[in-house]
Amino acid sequence: MTGWAEAQKHLAGGVNSPVRAFKAVGGDPVIVKRAKGAYLYDTSGKRYLDFCLSWGAILLGHAHPKTVKAITAQAKNGTSFGTATDTETALAREIKKAFPGMDKIRFTSSGTEAVMSALRLARGVTRKNRVVKFEGGYHGHADSLLVKAGSGLATLGLSNSAGVPEDFARLTTVLPYNDIEAARVYFKKCGQETACVILEPIAANMGVVPAKPEFLAELRRLTQDAGALLIFDEVITGYRLTYGGAQHLYKIKPDITILGKIIGGGLPVGAFGASGQIMDHLAPNGPVYQAGTLSGNPLSMAAGLSVLSGLSLNFYRELNQKMASFLKEARRILKKRGRAVNIQEAGSMFTLFFTGRKIENFKDVCASDTKAFKTFFHRMLRAGVYLPPSAFEASFLCQAHSQKELEHFLRILYST
Ligand SMILES: *Cc1c(COP(=O)(O)O)cnc(C)c1O
Repeated sequence: MTGWAEAQKHLAGGVNSPVRAFKAVGGDPVIVKRAKGAYLYDTSGKRYLDFCLSWGAILLGHAHPKTVKAITAQAKNGTSFGTATDTETALAREIKKAFPGMDKIRFTSSGTEAVMSALRLARGVTRKNRVVKFEGGYHGHADSLLVKAGSGLATLGLSNSAGVPEDFARLTTVLPYNDIEAARVYFKKCGQETACVILEPIAANMGVVPAKPEFLAELRRLTQDAGALLIFDEVITGYRLTYGGAQHLYKIKPDITILGKIIGGGLPVGAFGASGQIMDHLAPNGPVYQAGTLSGNPLSMAAGLSVLSGLSLNFYRELNQKMASFLKEARRILKKRGRAVNIQEAGSMFTLFFTGRKIENFKDVCASDTKAFKTFFHRMLRAGVYLPPSAFEASFLCQAHSQKELEHFLRILYST
């Protein structure tokens, strides 16, 4: 009584998160039994070189000995106390080394929860209600941010998930990514009603689309002038790009930073942080309520610490160099094969867009060839390479990807 047919009998849609169901690429999803280093192993024992890496949450490699040891040691001492612990303080201190702007931190059990709480905090601090997000930006599944990225609808604030009241969606404005003029027009009209602007400083949930530096700089200026908060959702980028995240790369200081994924070492986690002055609005010090039975869970904190404590600018330099030479070779192959594929990257994440043009926003993304991606995805899968099962996701490298493994990918790329 195992497998995909059985999963569909007992789990909604057979999964616990929609993209896992392979709807975007067709076919039955891979059912994974275990993972080690850069590889996933399915229930039949077939091995896949993993470029999804739990959607970017794995940085060193699967089942890294340091992380396994940390989790095992913690499990022996108990898995949840519902009290303050020194482990959560230790992880917060570790994060502050890389993100000095996060003077005070609060941990949650998922990125979604951190985003939801950060929005409530921004609204509580500013006593304003309107929030701004960008087309193609994903911030988890909180009501206020599940708002359609479609042009005409966006301005009407129509939601694209059933079950999100229009009244919530009306308070969210969706603007085009990398469009400075649209942001200026919005702020002129609604700046004074705006609690916050939230964005991925390098978008990774519509495929990898870096923000233009002048776009981020203008958002910083506009929010500051209007008394709105700027929130960087660095759940993916935080520990993926470099030590200190996108805010370090772009040299822009957001008011609130959101982290997740890598900081839990592969266990459930989220975090948000800001200046003490902003964070003091949270309960128990302030009036903005936020809580969680398993928040700061000792297993997640220990796993996170096992990963973060070994990181440095040097670690990222090495990983990113490996990525750069890998992509250089991939581009050479694609050019030789005459394929209209544009690879966009940042740090150790990349997306193959099946289009000849540069991608700057969600509209560009939508113009790429999803059918070509589907074919490509399944060829790679048959050859033992697991990519995220959607054309508009980021793929990732981890420390465990060795030269040999990257060459395997390139050989298959050459033959497709
Ligand atoms: C994954 C992700 C989230 C949501 O995190 P969950 O842990 O899945 O709830 C939020 N923002 C960004 C940018 C993400 O990539």
